[in-house]
Amino acid sequence: MSAPAPIQMVDLKTQYERMQEEVDQAVLDVIRSGAFINGPAVKDFQAGLESFLRCAHVIPCANGTDALQIALMALGLKPGDEVIVPAFTYVASAEVIALLGLSPVMVDVDPFTFNVTAEIIEPAITERTRAIIPVHLFGQSCDMEPIRQLARRHDIYIVEDNAQAIGAEYTFTDGSVGRTGTLGDIGCTSFYPSKNLGAYGDGGAINTDSDDLAANLRRVANHGQNRRYYHDVVGVNSRLDSVQAAILNCKLPHLDAYNRRRQEAAAVYDERLAGIDGLLTPARLPASTHVYHQYTLRVSGGRRDALQEHLQQAGIPSMVYYPVPLYDQAAFRGTAANKIDFLPVTDQLCKEVISLPMHSELDTETLAYICDSTRQFFAG
Ligand SMILES: *Cc1c(COP(=O)(O)O)cnc(C)c1O
Repeated sequence: MSAPAPIQMVDLKTQYERMQEEVDQAVLDVIRSGAFINGPAVKDFQAGLESFLRCAHVIPCANGTDALQIALMALGLKPGDEVIVPAFTYVASAEVIALLGLSPVMVDVDPFTFNVTAEIIEPAITERTRAIIPVHLFGQSCDMEPIRQLARRHDIYIVEDNAQAIGAEYTFTDGSVGRTGTLGDIGCTSFYPSKNLGAYGDGGAINTDSDDLAANLRRVANHGQNRRYYHDVVGVNSRLDSVQAAILNCKLPHLDAYNRRRQEAAAVYDERLAGIDGLLTPARLPASTHVYHQYTLRVSGGRRDALQEHLQQAGIPSMVYYPVPLYDQAAFRGTAANKIDFLPVTDQLCKEVISLPMHSELDTETLAYICDSTRQFFAG
């Protein structure tokens, strides 16, 4: 077996080349217009994303981490208030909690979907719990209906970390369907270049259906002011750049198609990697579509790193998302804010997970090569 073309974890260049003229023109238009800050491109993107998400308000901002921070600030939480967050996620989800002087209460995740569930969250709720941050990890929605019921019962806000799942849809038992990010009180997403909807730099957005929360979010993101030079609260400066907005305007109409290409690649992986002893393909939640920000396997028997080495020898990149539980990160370990010191599923996942190349440009030949090479490892 020889590798087809150089295989990439993410292929941003080919995707760009497919729409180069349009993107180049859009960027030039912003530069020539001089409307660099909150120009028409940003307004257009806001409207476009509102319609894509089927949500009343989108507040564009500088990145996904800011989106989460602004969301928590807009809820008016006080120091010491507890916010529940999974320990198996990207650091940003928990970092913003600690940064604001709130207490991150880390919880475990389901070993098959990698997401938090209502059953996992419930025992972590206390008198001081004010919010939950469900993370739709790797592109699949958490099971939000029971989480919503739980949050409503305890009068807790839901701030969805939708950085990895933009475009995924969740179906409620009454048959109604909503995009991830619109299933709680506030949704937060990121346009980091490798995300499913990636800019060519940083970008993020917050969304909500509540007029009141939207007004708070806008004010916090804009130095705490509604009227220029009159600052009601301490806020931040977080804006989506007009050049990035122009690029995102070109890409947003293709997002559903990009996600379908990821699903097609995942279906090939699923089929060709099924039934291997010691290897688990990612589980699907029936109520959610999966937009495969990552295609993440579990390797048992302590062989994950050996598989990664084997793939690397064959010219196949792979990544470990995430190698260290958040409660074990130096930033959180032993802090007063963090009362958790071990969660068995998170611990196990950090030792077992490996993510294969996943993007909108993977062809059948490349996928076959990756799957054959993976099979070969387990046969040997
Ligand atoms: C990417 C990501 C973020 C942060 O987004 P940035 O734009 O990089 O700040 C937050 N949460 C999750 C789960 C992410 O994957």
